Amino acid sequence: MNSPKKVKLEQTRSQEIFRRATDVLVGGVNSPVRAFRAVGGEPIIADHAAGAHLWDADGNEYIDYVCSWGALILGHAHPKVVQAIAHQAARGTSYGMPTELEVELAQRVRNVFPSCEKVRFVSSGTEATMSAVRLARAATGRDLIVKFEGCYHGHSDSFLSEAGSGLATLGIAGCPGVPQVLAELTLNVPYNDVAAVEKVFDLHRDKIGAVIVEPIAANMGLVPPKSGFLQALREITVRHGALLIFDEVISGFRVCHGGAQTLFGITPDLTTLGKIIGGGLPVGAYGGRRDLMDRVAPLGPVYQAGTLSGNPLAMSAGIASLDLLVAPGFYESLEARSKRLGDGIAAAIGETGAVATSARAGSLLTLFFAREPVTDYSAAKKCDTRKFAGFFGGMLDRGILLAPSQFEAMFVSAAHSDADIDRTVAAVRESLAAIAGQYGTALLKKCVT
Ligand SMILES: *Cc1c(COP(=O)(O)O)cnc(C)c1O
Repeated sequence: MNSPKKVKLEQTRSQEIFRRATDVLVGGVNSPVRAFRAVGGEPIIADHAAGAHLWDADGNEYIDYVCSWGALILGHAHPKVVQAIAHQAARGTSYGMPTELEVELAQRVRNVFPSCEKVRFVSSGTEATMSAVRLARAATGRDLIVKFEGCYHGHSDSFLSEAGSGLATLGIAGCPGVPQVLAELTLNVPYNDVAAVEKVFDLHRDKIGAVIVEPIAANMGLVPPKSGFLQALREITVRHGALLIFDEVISGFRVCHGGAQTLFGITPDLTTLGKIIGGGLPVGAYGGRRDLMDRVAPLGPVYQAGTLSGNPLAMSAGIASLDLLVAPGFYESLEARSKRLGDGIAAAIGETGAVATSARAGSLLTLFFAREPVTDYSAAKKCDTRKFAGFFGGMLDRGILLAPSQFEAMFVSAAHSDADIDRTVAAVRESLAAIAGQYGTALLKKCVT
């Protein structure tokens, strides 16, 4: 494998493409998380990818831990998924009529998410959470929603305060353009803080329609739920007649079949899904108890629609993907690889003496430049993002592609080999040592002058 070359000539192909991109696209990107603002430099321009590896427009090869932000649990261009998409493309890409494919994917979802008695497919995770909240408000007749600081639920108006992912990366606390009256309907509470949830319910009692939570938070870096946290959310919401929405856009089909709700044995009222269920094509879904879902049009008055919803290409890719996840030992083997990586990273931190801590939940990992384990957003925000930028650059130089932000997770796929993992761990050790060296030198200079 070639390690990325530093082409010092006039302009690389990637740079040339990015010049054109910035001229015609906002910031040169179609999603802010792809920009390299927090780490410096210019984004990778992807050319093609296979398995765990991605090549940029200059032919540099990377071991990819972004994997389309978690959508690709099988890695890039899995032959079975590609075949399913190609087969369907030749039969038509969209009909605007129901298909059997939608039934097939919905059944696969319900089989492993028993809380989803009925499912509605949409085209993104954003649409899924936005629609779930609309439904929750309609069902309870209450307008307030509780969310957790550092959790990300897509970019719809109600969720753009103290949100994770790109908003954390860019330091956007609240978003202009969201009417104040709407923003006031979202109550933010620290993640993992049961007392704060109790307090917000004491204050607003029967006005809160729903609590929405990432049951395994992965958009402020990876922050697993403390023991009892999710159970407490279930009890508190039941006690107050509010609905509990699990946003499993990342965790669904990532941590196990049936997502975090199966792992922790908690039944939410509504669930949102995305990413993995589309096999790399645009998709989202929300589902839940029949009596709730039956309020959605055409059965009920809660309106929600989509020209490309349940798109046959996306359904085909989703079905092909989910069918590969049921292979015996799939999650066990993913866990083994992820553990190898997690253990390697923890050891590298120990060996280099870096001021850092690592977190892992299954195939989700984050290396935080923090002294203490990160349990909520305020702790995540204390991380040394400058050090992260140095680390990110060191990894990139060594052919390892991470999400360009401290506030994101690494996604291990079934396509990452032990050799990939071992190379990654070596790169982590070297990159941590290199930033320690940089800081050491700077310190030395300061002492000398
Ligand atoms: C990615 C994500 C979303 C938004 O999904 P999009 O498809 O990007 O709109 C919502 N919730 C969570 C937990 C996510 O990680």
